[in-house]
Amino acid sequence: ANANLYTVLRGGFPADLDAVAIETPGRTYSWADIDAISGRMAALLRSFGVPAGARVAVQVEKSPEALMLYLATLRAGLVYLPLNTAYREAEVAYFLGDAEPAVVVCGDGAQSGCESLARARGAVRVLTLNADGGGSLAEAAAKMDPAFETAHSAPGDLAAILYTSGTTGRSKGAMLTHANLAANALTLRDFWGWRADDVLLHMLPIFHIHGLFVASHGALLAGARMIWLPKLDVDQALRYLPRCTLMMGVPTYYVRLLADPRFTRETCAHMRLFISGSAPLLVDTFREFQARTGMTILERYGMSETGMIASNPWDAARGERIPGTVGPALPGQAVRVVDDAGRPAPVGEPGHIQVRGPNVFAGYWRMPEKTREEFTADGWFRTGDIGALGGPGIPDDYLSIVGRSKDLIISGGYNVYPKEIEMVIDAMPGVQESAVIGVPHADFGEAVVAVVVPRAGASVDPAAIQAGLRSGLANFKVPKKIHVIDALPRNAMGKVQKNVLRQQYAGLD
Ligand code: ATP
Ligand code: MG
Repeated sequence: ANANLYTVLRGGFPADLDAVAIETPGRTYSWADIDAISGRMAALLRSFGVPAGARVAVQVEKSPEALMLYLATLRAGLVYLPLNTAYREAEVAYFLGDAEPAVVVCGDGAQSGCESLARARGAVRVLTLNADGGGSLAEAAAKMDPAFETAHSAPGDLAAILYTSGTTGRSKGAMLTHANLAANALTLRDFWGWRADDVLLHMLPIFHIHGLFVASHGALLAGARMIWLPKLDVDQALRYLPRCTLMMGVPTYYVRLLADPRFTRETCAHMRLFISGSAPLLVDTFREFQARTGMTILERYGMSETGMIASNPWDAARGERIPGTVGPALPGQAVRVVDDAGRPAPVGEPGHIQVRGPNVFAGYWRMPEKTREEFTADGWFRTGDIGALGGPGIPDDYLSIVGRSKDLIISGGYNVYPKEIEMVIDAMPGVQESAVIGVPHADFGEAVVAVVVPRAGASVDPAAIQAGLRSGLANFKVPKKIHVIDALPRNAMGKVQKNVLRQQYAGLD
C-alpha cells in the first residue's frame, strides 16, 4: 500500500466529492476542488524536476490554497516546510540557509525579504501565493492537469520538517515522516470521536503543528467541513460558532471569547467539543468557560517532534476532563515521568516527561548530535517538559504539565518549579496571570522573580503578594522581586516567552 499521507487522508473524503469541504467568508471549496487544486500544484512541483526529499519552504498568509499547497507537496513526494509569517529577514535567512529548500513560496507582502533571500540562496524555483490565493503559483498551476497520481511513499519517507516554536532557544527542524503524521491523525480521529457531520472552526495559523496537522488532518480524515478563517477574530468567531460542532484553539482564544459578553450558551448550541493546547490552559479559564457555556474544554498536550502525546478524554466512558491536567497518554503511545537518574518518579511527583510511539519524529534536521542527546538509551524521546502522573484526586495515568526543564529554577541548590508559585499568585485577588522566572544571583545561583499581570481595572501590590506567598511557601520559593506589567510577552502560538522575561529582568533591581 502507499504510505503517502495524502492517500491516507484521501481515504477519509466523503463519497459525495461535491459536498463543501472548506468554507471561507467569501467562497466554498468542495472535496473535488481539494483533489484538483492540490493535483495541479503537485504536477507543477513535479515539473520542476527536483529530487524526492527536496524541501518546499512556504511563508505565506493562511488561505485554503496554502493548505492545498501542503497537500500538493505530500502528493509530489516532497518535504513541506512551513515558516511563521511573523518571521523577518534575518530569521527567514536562517531557516532557508538551514533547510536549503529547492522550492520557496512566499507571500507578496515581501516585508520578510523571503523572495530575494530565496533567490540569493539558490532555490530552483521561487513562487508567490497571496492571501487571496492568487500569485505566480496559482497562475502556473492553472495550466497543469488536475488528475495527478499521488507519489508512492514509504512509511519512513519525510513528509514535513516543522521548525519548533523557538520558545526555549533557536528553533530546531523536526523531521516528520508520512507514518508519524498518519499514526497521530488516525489516533486522534478515533480518540476525539471525529464525525463526517462535524463542522470545525479553523482559526489557527497553519505554519504550526496545531493548525496544520491536528486541526486540518482531523477534518480531512473525517470528511468534515472546515470553516476557514485567517486568524482569531472574535466577531467572526461569534458569527460562525452557532453553525459549528468543534473548535480548536490556544488558551488565549478562549480567554478572548470569554472577554466578550456576546459569547454565551446560545453561541455554543451545536458545539460538541472545544479543544485547547500549545500552552497551559488556566484552571480559571476552564471553570469560567464551564460556567458561561455549560461546556468542558478538552485540554491536550503535544509538540512538533511528536504530534499529540496525551489528551483528556472526549468519551465520558474513558474518564473525566480534569482541569490542570492533559489526560492520559493517547492509545498506541507510552508516557513516563522520570527523575534526573532516569528512575520512575513517584505518583504526583514532578519529573522529566518521556514518550515513545509511532508518532515520534525521525530526528532534528541536520542536528545528529542533538537528536542523539534527546533520546534515551532505551529509545524514549525526552520532551524537555516536566510533568507529573497522578496526584491528589487525579487518576494515576493522567499527566499534568509542570513546565519546561529549561524554566526550572535552581535556587540555593533547591529545585523550584515556576508553576507551583504561579498557581498561588494567579489565585490572588486582582491577578490575571503571572510568570515566575529564575535570574542570575551571586549567592543563590538563581533567584526567583515573579512578573504579575493585574486584571483589567484592578491593581496589585507587590509587597502584599510577597507577604501572601511567604505564608504558604518555603522561603526559597518566594520571589525576591515582583514586577507588575500589562501583558506577558507571547509568541504566535500564545506561549509565554520566558527567555524574553529573563533578559528583561536579569537585574534584581
Ligand atoms: P522550542 O522547542 O523551540 O523551544 P516549543 O517547544 O514551544 O519551542 P512547539 O513544538 O511548538 O515548540 O511546542 C511544544 C511545547 O508546547 C511542549 O513541549 C510544551 O512545553 C508546550 N505545550 C503544548 N501543549 C501544552 C499544554 N496543554 N500545556 C502546557 N504546555 C503545553
Ligand atoms: Mg520544544
